[in-house]
Amino acid sequence: MRVINFSAGPSTLPLEVLKEAQDELLSYKGKGFSIMEISHRTKLFEEVHFEAMQNVKSLYKLSDDYEVLFLQGGASLQFAMVPMNLSLNGVCEYVNTGVWTKKAIKEAKILNVNLNVVASSEEDNFSHIPDVKFSDNADYAYICSNNTIYGTQYQSYPDTKAPLVVDASSDFFSKEVDFKNIALFYGGTQKNAGISGLACVIIRKDMLERSASKNLPSMLKYSIHNENKSLFNTPNTFAIYIFALEMRWLLKQGGLAKIDENNKAKANLLYECIDSSEGFYTGFARKEDRSLMNVSFKSKNAELDALFVKEAEANSMLGLKGHRLLGGLRASIYNAITLEQVKELCAFMNEFKKKYA
Ligand SMILES: *Cc1c(COP(=O)(O)O)cnc(C)c1O
Repeated sequence: MRVINFSAGPSTLPLEVLKEAQDELLSYKGKGFSIMEISHRTKLFEEVHFEAMQNVKSLYKLSDDYEVLFLQGGASLQFAMVPMNLSLNGVCEYVNTGVWTKKAIKEAKILNVNLNVVASSEEDNFSHIPDVKFSDNADYAYICSNNTIYGTQYQSYPDTKAPLVVDASSDFFSKEVDFKNIALFYGGTQKNAGISGLACVIIRKDMLERSASKNLPSMLKYSIHNENKSLFNTPNTFAIYIFALEMRWLLKQGGLAKIDENNKAKANLLYECIDSSEGFYTGFARKEDRSLMNVSFKSKNAELDALFVKEAEANSMLGLKGHRLLGGLRASIYNAITLEQVKELCAFMNEFKKKYA
């Protein structure tokens, strides 16, 4: 029996993806070995690898100006690789919207790049997305599109002449994206597109040229990975395989516009449940900045929150405890969570409210 898993990450995978991986686990395409047990240089693996890359391009409708990379080190290594590869002699500008941007800022500072935090919502505990105006001539402009812990999300990206860099780890492949200003778009795949350890990086070709001009260790250099089509060394083949299954699944759902429609329906239902609770539940994020992926909220007090988590678990609903920094409750309703599952959560929330209001 599978539970309904609202974990923030790693998080639930589509059942179809898990079943397909299960079917193929002992014998991939009838070969008598699993995809994990063969060389990354074989045609069999390369087919999976390049299909996944191509499907990323199709899903986001990317022009030939962009390349797709599969890298290791999760999203967190990108906190360092971005400044290493993209900083020039100007200023790197960051918006601070929570823990994940703070970590990115910290790594860039370790590397001694010239850095400015040009907007922040720290003063109100990151409950909103601040307005920002980046300098036209910044080396790059850095944002995190969805703040996993606080449940805030950019509804549209800031307009900028500087190359925009986006950490999209927790809203990856959840909606269509206009790449107009985007120079680099990345995420760990364990929230919305697969399992942990793999980062997918979408990079514009002028940024690859910047990278090529840098004196960096090979493994930390975008241009080297691109020249080697993300097969410079042994990649995380199993994570790429699961990611490939996910990309196929997303296409089968009808692509990102369709996925977005479904994500909106799910989030609307859950926020409606919170907003119509007459103050029993309160949402954390400012309404206009609410995330469609991570719904952070709380009930009337900490004791009730703890009881909520406990009773939810007894009802086969997991992962609803808020992040330790914020407390309260959080439901992560990524792509693989169905509308039906959100309906079940809302029904549970209404029952819980009736019992304890
Ligand atoms: C989870 C997360 C990360 C960190 O991902 P790792 O793969 O653990 O390095 C970075 N950014 C955001 C927005 C995240 O949600």
